[in-house]
Amino acid sequence: MDACIAVERELDRVLSKFSGLQEHDRKTLDDIAQYVQNIRENWLMVVPSDQELSAPHKLILTQCLRKVRDTITRVGSEHRDLHSSVSKVGKAIDRNFVAEFHSVTTAGVFEGEDKSRQLNEVVCEHFLRQGMLDIAEQLNEEAQLNMSGDQKEPFLELHRILGALKQRDMQPALRWAQLNRNQLLAHGSSLEFKLHRLYFIDLIKQGPSRQREALMYARNFSLFTSHDKDLQALMGSLLYLRQGIQNSPYAYLLDPLYWDEICDVFTRDACALMGLSVESPLSVSIRAGCIALPPLLNIRQVMQARQCSNVWSAKDELPVEIDLGSEYRFHSIFACPILRQQSSENNPPVRLMCGHVISQDALTKLANGSKVKCPYCPVEQNPEEAKRICF
Ligand SMILES: [Zn+2]
Repeated sequence: MDACIAVERELDRVLSKFSGLQEHDRKTLDDIAQYVQNIRENWLMVVPSDQELSAPHKLILTQCLRKVRDTITRVGSEHRDLHSSVSKVGKAIDRNFVAEFHSVTTAGVFEGEDKSRQLNEVVCEHFLRQGMLDIAEQLNEEAQLNMSGDQKEPFLELHRILGALKQRDMQPALRWAQLNRNQLLAHGSSLEFKLHRLYFIDLIKQGPSRQREALMYARNFSLFTSHDKDLQALMGSLLYLRQGIQNSPYAYLLDPLYWDEICDVFTRDACALMGLSVESPLSVSIRAGCIALPPLLNIRQVMQARQCSNVWSAKDELPVEIDLGSEYRFHSIFACPILRQQSSENNPPVRLMCGHVISQDALTKLANGSKVKCPYCPVEQNPEEAKRICF
């Protein structure tokens, strides 16, 4: 961020010089044009065309020429001076941004047919997710990914439905939600209810003429009894059909925010059903990389300055822990309350019979033959009965 600010400062300096010079040049050129015009009108036009110019005329003309030449030279050199300010921006970019990332990359990470194919697939999937179908198709062809229709279809369907939702057409989304009702309900999704609610609101918005239709449509809510508070509001709004919902305590139902929300809910739930993450893995990786790179580059610089660059030789692990923020925490982390260590594949968390959870290493240390006393409750039990926990 500091780097951006430093470059922006230089850029502002150039821009203010540019606008200052532009103003100044326009005035100078206007003045000189006016001056030439005056000479033409007051001195040249008054002399008949078949008559030679007198000596004072010639003198005036020579002076005029010299003045024009001087002005042009001055404007030119002022313009040239700008160049140094412009080149300072380039230098500021070079100084503030590191273009050399080689020191923090792992050699060979994308080498080999398999790896480059995987990389291309991830890029292709990213374009499919973003709805850039033609680019994805082109990449699919050029990189010979041979992605089958089955792989592409879920993304295409997602985009068809989202596109319709953005046009406020909820029918494709409703059909999809009804088709996948059981799985959606198993995920605790309220997508179908929210879609019906939007349709219902759309009906009551149109006033008493759609009252009958709205009442009939309300039958669709019979499946969703857990949303009783929302249902009460929807039914309550029917009382205000005549005076208009917008003039009722239920005016909030008309908030366009519900349409934005439904797009998010649909994307989230559809991705969950398809086993996809909501966000593109490629953009998540790039964003995480952008956060992690500056500290890594700093560390590398410090290491090189102190001539201990061989400390960080295993490049598949980081020399320091980098906190990317909670947004990037995808898995729960368990820290053993006994050993105060983070659990790992070799030292997983285990659940004791009493329900308390400690790490495998702690259990091994606490166990005395076939007996172990829980450090918390303290129920005595057989360590073999402890079960491994996966988050
Ligand atoms: Zn216990």
